[in-house]
Amino acid sequence: MQCPSCELSVPDAARVCPRCGTVFARQPPRKAGAASAIIVAAAVVLAALLVVVWLYFV
Ligand SMILES: [Zn+2]
Repeated sequence: MQCPSCELSVPDAARVCPRCGTVFARQPPRKAGAASAIIVAAAVVLAALLVVVWLYFV
């Protein structure tokens, strides 16, 4: 990507421009983190349900 302030070529993973110090707004990683957190929460709930069912029948 390119720095919008000084037009220096910087890596896509960079959060701050090494030349002028501009901080880049990066929204997609935050959304991905929220989605994976929901998946993890759903997996935990499913596991808890399985344990309850197993305890009930055993
Ligand atoms: Zn810059």
